[in-house]
Amino acid sequence: MNTPDILTALTGADDASLFALADETRRRVFGKAVYIRAIVEFSNVCDKHCRYCGLRADNRRLNRYRMRADDILAAADAAVAEGAGTVVLQSGDDFSYSAELVGELIREIKERHDVAVTLSLGDRSLDEYVYWRACGADRCLMKLETTDRHLYKQLRRGEDFGARLHRVEELRRMGYEIGSGVIAGLPGTTPMDALRDILFLTDLGLDMIAVGPFVPNPDTPLSGMTPGSVDLSFRMTALLRILNPEANIPATSALDALRPGSRALALTRGCNVLMPSLTPADYRGDYTIYPGKNAGSTEGAASLAPARKAIEENGFVPSASKGFSPRRSHVR
Ligand code: SF4
Repeated sequence: MNTPDILTALTGADDASLFALADETRRRVFGKAVYIRAIVEFSNVCDKHCRYCGLRADNRRLNRYRMRADDILAAADAAVAEGAGTVVLQSGDDFSYSAELVGELIREIKERHDVAVTLSLGDRSLDEYVYWRACGADRCLMKLETTDRHLYKQLRRGEDFGARLHRVEELRRMGYEIGSGVIAGLPGTTPMDALRDILFLTDLGLDMIAVGPFVPNPDTPLSGMTPGSVDLSFRMTALLRILNPEANIPATSALDALRPGSRALALTRGCNVLMPSLTPADYRGDYTIYPGKNAGSTEGAASLAPARKAIEENGFVPSASKGFSPRRSHVR
């Protein structure tokens, strides 16, 4: 697919053909399997100030929490008992959890269960990531959110795009599988920005690529901005699938936050991963990067049943596999 074709597809010129090709590509590589990665959002404390995110340090309206180690392990146990092949340990940039404590959590989960562990812990030091890799962590998520370095600086209040990119490369060198991604339809962006994001993410040769639409959070400086487009997000993930056949591509929860049901639909348009929150009910509703982040699951015991149902209803099969990307099969 050449650049003009990608740009034309982004404008919605022929969604039916685009989505059919994405689905065909996904089935050729992954068959009917949909990998389930259970996320344990163990702390919503963050010292950063990203303008789009409800967890930003200066949001005083958020009820902050930090889970204890025992509770984090219990949540991981519950996720595996329900059939998750990956446990994602996620938090804001919360430096109160020492490297040793996080390492102990990784070791304990890997000792108790034959699962992959993904870290989504933000800008911790590279030494810490080296240590956690030695403790058994398999993957890292390091989102870029935009590949426009000026917009990146604006949105992440002074953070440096080059430093983030360097981190992605360093983590890859450590042997982690690397996931990254962007937000579709950030305020002021155009299809040309989406095109640049797609080409940039493809050039990075990522193992996992995530795209979700922008969802304005009323407790942030971007409150009141126009939400991103679900359809643009569908087109971007479909194009990324075609350009990156072996990458894992999740159907993101932001889709459902804007248009309920669209996350399940994304599975038929190139996506092959679901990442439901298995954070305990006492905390789940407070992990509000954007409103509706954990929509439909803020009450009752954490469960993978809704994810499983969505997968089966769309003709796919929930998989408890660790779900490594075939792209990086030589690493493990
Ligand atoms: Fe913190 Fe991440 Fe939110 Fe930025 S996007 S404020 S680093 S949780």
